Amino acid sequence: MKFQIAVLEGDGIGPEVTREAIRVLQRIAARYEHEFHFAYALIGGAAIKETGSPFPPQTQELCLQSDAVLLGAVGSPEFDHLPAAERPEAGLLQLRRALGGFANLRPAVSYESITAISPLRAEIVTGVEILIVRELLGGLYFGEPRGMKSEGSEAFNTMRYSVNEIERVAHVAFKAAQQRQRKVTSVDKANVLETSQLWRQTVTRVAKDYPDVALDHLYVDACAMHLITNPKRFDVILTENLFGDILSDEAAVMTGSLGMLASATIGGAIDLYEPVHGSAPDIAGQNKANPFGAIASAAMMLRHTAKLEREADAIEAAIRSVLDHGYRTADINGDGSGTLSSTTEIGQLVEGNL
Ligand code: NAD
Repeated sequence: MKFQIAVLEGDGIGPEVTREAIRVLQRIAARYEHEFHFAYALIGGAAIKETGSPFPPQTQELCLQSDAVLLGAVGSPEFDHLPAAERPEAGLLQLRRALGGFANLRPAVSYESITAISPLRAEIVTGVEILIVRELLGGLYFGEPRGMKSEGSEAFNTMRYSVNEIERVAHVAFKAAQQRQRKVTSVDKANVLETSQLWRQTVTRVAKDYPDVALDHLYVDACAMHLITNPKRFDVILTENLFGDILSDEAAVMTGSLGMLASATIGGAIDLYEPVHGSAPDIAGQNKANPFGAIASAAMMLRHTAKLEREADAIEAAIRSVLDHGYRTADINGDGSGTLSSTTEIGQLVEGNL
């Protein structure tokens, strides 16, 4: 198939990890006879230096003409003196707004050969494969009215959801579950919040379209507990914006390092794929960043947007194989017993495993 990818490498380790994701995608294209086209554009600090803007119009145009966007990371201490709206990170917010994705997908996968780096016991995390589907454009973060009284004595935010907002993200979760273990856990606080009661009713109704998927409901406080005591009980977790923000970071603990985490933001005009980590200025330019999260994000792109399930599976199997053979970047080398490898070497190893 033909597939057009806008590549926004960004700042710091962004270009280093993205390069390895592209290497892997090129290998997939050659192996399975696809035509992947990569077009590059600037974002973040790199874009400010060239154009004065963290998200220039030509970047937006390229993204909107593509089938998907692959992002590295943005942010650089050299712009810390600027007001928030002019910093590299503002480019990321503008990008997300321009693409309009309402569902954020974050897998929390425990890779067996590196369970020792998780602060949770190996028997708890071994075999965990959770996908968190978080609603991204509604809830407390966007609800109106919001504000702070001028004298600072009181502040308020509004949690608000419409049936349509809940339905569309619920469909994403059920469809994802159909490709996995066929189980959705919907997380809310329906014993206290009306928005959660609407959430629960709506998700229950949407579930009728997916008779092959089991649905259960959990209150968010109970979910937070189960995530660290019995994470294997979960397949897909579906939840609203604020709960998802918190639970996805909690679930990330299974993996043991920020560098392992992939994400997708889908449902808008164009889907966006990016590793969860930032630009890591402390290790930038040293060829030691962990590229697994970026490579796994590329696999998500193939699965969710390109609908190339077999190819996504192949990348994920190659990641596991490289880890199983003991190759590690510094952040996942725990007791130092693995074979310490550079960013480039890891990319080459994954490529070689395909
Ligand atoms: P960070 O994720 O960049 O780094 C946190 C720590 O994790 C650092 O010690 C870093 O070295 C390490 N780390 C991160 N990714 C790694 C990888 N792939 N391999 C090995 N180690 C890795 O977060 P931060 O330090 O809080 O922020 C740095 C900059 O990135 C800031 O400008 C911030 O605004 C930006 N940021 C961007 C994004 C994004 O682009 N999506 C996300 C978070 C932070």
